[in-house]
Amino acid sequence: MAQRVTRFAPSPTGPLHLGHAFAALVAAERGDRFLLRIEDIDQPRYRREFEDGIYTDLKWLGLNWEKPVFRQSTRMATYDASLARLCSMGLTYRCTCSRGDIKAALSAPQEGVPIIGPDGPIYPGTCRAKGHRQGAVRLDMVKAMARLGEVRFTETGTRAGELFYSASQMIETVGDIALARKDIGTSYHIAVVVDDAAQGVTEVTRGEDLFAATAIHVVLQRLLGLPTPAYHHHRLIRDDQGKRLAKRDDARALAKYRDEGATPADIRAMVGL
Ligand code: GLU
Repeated sequence: MAQRVTRFAPSPTGPLHLGHAFAALVAAERGDRFLLRIEDIDQPRYRREFEDGIYTDLKWLGLNWEKPVFRQSTRMATYDASLARLCSMGLTYRCTCSRGDIKAALSAPQEGVPIIGPDGPIYPGTCRAKGHRQGAVRLDMVKAMARLGEVRFTETGTRAGELFYSASQMIETVGDIALARKDIGTSYHIAVVVDDAAQGVTEVTRGEDLFAATAIHVVLQRLLGLPTPAYHHHRLIRDDQGKRLAKRDDARALAKYRDEGATPADIRAMVGL
C-alpha cells in the first residue's frame, strides 16, 4: 500500500497547548511519514520563542519529524505564482472593502440575515464588477464553480464519508473568499493548499474547527491542478467549561504542565489518547 504522509502545521503565534499536543499526536500516529510545517505567514504575530517552543514541546512528547522543516515565510514567491495563476484564469477580483464596509453592506435591509461562512460573513460582492487594480484578492466563486461544477473529498474523521458540495452550496455558504490580504499578499487557504501538495501530504489531519475551510481548499486544488488528499478532522480538546482551547489559553500550555512535573504519558491521558 502507498505510504501515508501526514503533517502537523502549527502557527508560531502562541505556546502549544493540549489541543496542539492532541493534533500532533494524532497526525504522527496516522502517518507512515510525519512532516512538520511552520505556518508563519502572519509575520506580525510570529515570535521566534514560539517556534522554538514547538520543537521543544514536540520532542518532549516523543515525536520525530522529517527534516528540513517547511517554513511558509520562505515560500512567498511560490504562493504569489499560484495566486497569479488564478488571476490569469480570470477567476479573481480586487476588493477594497474594509471589515466595516462589509458589515454596513450586509446590514442593508434587502440583504436579510447575513450567512456566516468559513471566514466570516459571506462577502456581499460589492467590488466584484468594479475593476479595482489594488486591494485584497477575492475568488469569484460563481466563476470558479462554473468551471468545476462540484467538489468532493474523502473525510475519515469526525464526519466520515465521501463529502460533496454543489456549486450553489459553495456560492451561498462560502462565497467570494479572500485569497490574499492587502497586508500579507497571500492567505492561509493558498499557502496550505500549495504546501500540502509540495510536501506530498496524502492525509491532512487537523482539528474540526478547520472543517469548513476544507471545501475551499478542494476548490483551490482543482483550479490549480493539485491533488486532493484525504482529510481527517479530529475532535477538539475543550476546557472544563466545554470551550475550545485557544492560543491565548496559556494556562494549558504544554510547557507549563512540563514545568509542573507532568510526563508525556500524563499529556496523552489528559487528551484521551
Ligand atoms: N496553522 C493552522 C493552525 O495552527 C493549522 C493549519 C492546518 O492544519 O491546515 O491552526
